[in-house]
Amino acid sequence: MKIQQQKNSNKGSSGKKLRFPADLLSPIGDFLSTQIKKLETRKKRLEAEDPFADDERLNTSAAIDAEAAEQFGHVRISALKRDVDRKIIQIRKALSRVRIGKYGICEKCGRMIDTDRLTVYPEATLCVSCEKKRER
Ligand SMILES: [Zn+2]
Repeated sequence: MKIQQQKNSNKGSSGKKLRFPADLLSPIGDFLSTQIKKLETRKKRLEAEDPFADDERLNTSAAIDAEAAEQFGHVRISALKRDVDRKIIQIRKALSRVRIGKYGICEKCGRMIDTDRLTVYPEATLCVSCEKKRER
């Protein structure tokens, strides 16, 4: 008679248990979702400020001076908006890492991200050294 041993199906996936403490994941997830909401509000506010968002803008010659200012305002707001967008994307990414239980683990090298880094930059999905490599 064979006794089927439940093969410890922990797979021992390369041995190390890289996991962010589960009790911290849910507050982090909440925090990140709140951040996204805040950023989306900010984005809407920026969109409302964008002079080019105003469709009724007139293209008369009297408006030419105003146009330069508008152009400038538009460029500035676009830059801010892009910043907000980039942040939203990054936070969404971090949030999906929370969902799959891989928060705090570098996307590239799979090592734990320094908790000091996560404290100041909770949406980080790369460790410091991978982030530096990417910036080059
Ligand atoms: Zn890394």
